Amino acid sequence: MKNIVVFIMDQTAWRALPAYGNTYAKTPNIDRIAEGGMCIDGCYSTCPLCQPSRASFWTGRYPHETRVVSNSARCREKGVLPDFPTMGEVFSAAGYETVHFGKTHDAGTLRGFYCEPEKEIVSEPENPAYPQNRDTFRDNYTFRAACDWIRQRQDERPLFLVADIVNPHNICGWVGENQGVHRGMDSGEPLPPLPENFDFPDIAGQPRAIQYVCCTNIRQSQTAGWTPDNFREYLRAYYHFLSLADRGIGQVLDALEERGVHAGNTLFVMMSDHGDSMGARGRVTKQVDFYEETMRVPMIFKGPGIGAGRREGIASLLDLFPTLCSQAGIGAPEGLRGRDISAALSGGELPGRDYVAGEWHTEWGYTVSPGRMIRTGRYKYTRYIEDGGEQLFDLEMDPLEQNNLAGEPESASVLEGMRDLLKRHLEETGDSFETLKWAADSRWRSHPVGYQNHRGIAAPMTGEEH
Ligand code: ZN
Repeated sequence: MKNIVVFIMDQTAWRALPAYGNTYAKTPNIDRIAEGGMCIDGCYSTCPLCQPSRASFWTGRYPHETRVVSNSARCREKGVLPDFPTMGEVFSAAGYETVHFGKTHDAGTLRGFYCEPEKEIVSEPENPAYPQNRDTFRDNYTFRAACDWIRQRQDERPLFLVADIVNPHNICGWVGENQGVHRGMDSGEPLPPLPENFDFPDIAGQPRAIQYVCCTNIRQSQTAGWTPDNFREYLRAYYHFLSLADRGIGQVLDALEERGVHAGNTLFVMMSDHGDSMGARGRVTKQVDFYEETMRVPMIFKGPGIGAGRREGIASLLDLFPTLCSQAGIGAPEGLRGRDISAALSGGELPGRDYVAGEWHTEWGYTVSPGRMIRTGRYKYTRYIEDGGEQLFDLEMDPLEQNNLAGEPESASVLEGMRDLLKRHLEETGDSFETLKWAADSRWRSHPVGYQNHRGIAAPMTGEEH
């Protein structure tokens, strides 16, 4: 049986990587996996938040099924997670040595992996413009512990190793360090350009949950008063933290190669739990919305029998579980929601499917503005429970998602079809979305629409990781 090595980054949009066409980022080690590997072009997360996304792909189920719907500690309590088979359980039962280094944030779904305890190694910023916090410190430990373990490993079983990296998530702390009106610190490196969809002229035509992300996402609230150059500095810092992740990936790849673990005998996977807004629509980090930057993630495979290139189509992080089972020749458990995409990895096509789906519930345990996303080959449809707010984007004609067609008479039949798909999805997966309750703090949303206009409080941070 071939080894399996999975690199997971936190908060990495597909378009942040040179493997997907980015011309600013420098990720030579991720490129080592991408070169000669297969890049899946349209892979979507099931939730733009760490813990729900992770619990989802480790079990192959949607967040409403795992009941891990937020980063709240309540989602980690015993009994929340139904007793679904986990990837770790399936692969360890099949004879793999299953070992995990780094960020867990899994609500119990890493069951079956030996998880190295998360520790930190404090480091000094290489550039004062990029202050580091425990996100980077945890990665420092992860890379060292994984490399040490690999170099000392004696086990003869096939290896299933996960390196779970927090960066570029350190960008969230960077926003806090640079909140409000400020003059940016010059790092000495060139500023990346703003994204083409930096402006958000039609914000008034979006669901209320989108209009007021600044009130539910403290990081967004902290950008009130930022200049366009501050957003370029955000991007530059984001790419810096991405390069730290990349450097560590290179260290792990080197240690593996020293021990004879390479693409000739090992399936490598490179992915992320969700994306980052990357300045699109004046947005930072992630939460609530289902835009491409937030939901579309890299998914790269390399190894025996894997072709080289880029595969167009739609896929989901839910596909990871059945695909790895297929690649290892292991029977997949019943009830997995994703598809085996092995045919696409060996040069064929992605499996035909009507849609992939995403969910938003809440971040801190408030039931604010739950939403759902249905993405077909051409369209993206979103719906929020609060005001029944809808978005419809034609991603063929409008890949930057700048024209919400939900209110356009000529799109009425497409909209109706997307509503039907959502209805079918809710029924088939037992999702009670339409009857979920929601509540917004009365102190929120007391300012004119526009993230730059934010004032007052935003949803509090509880000190939990996110
Ligand atoms: Zn606000």
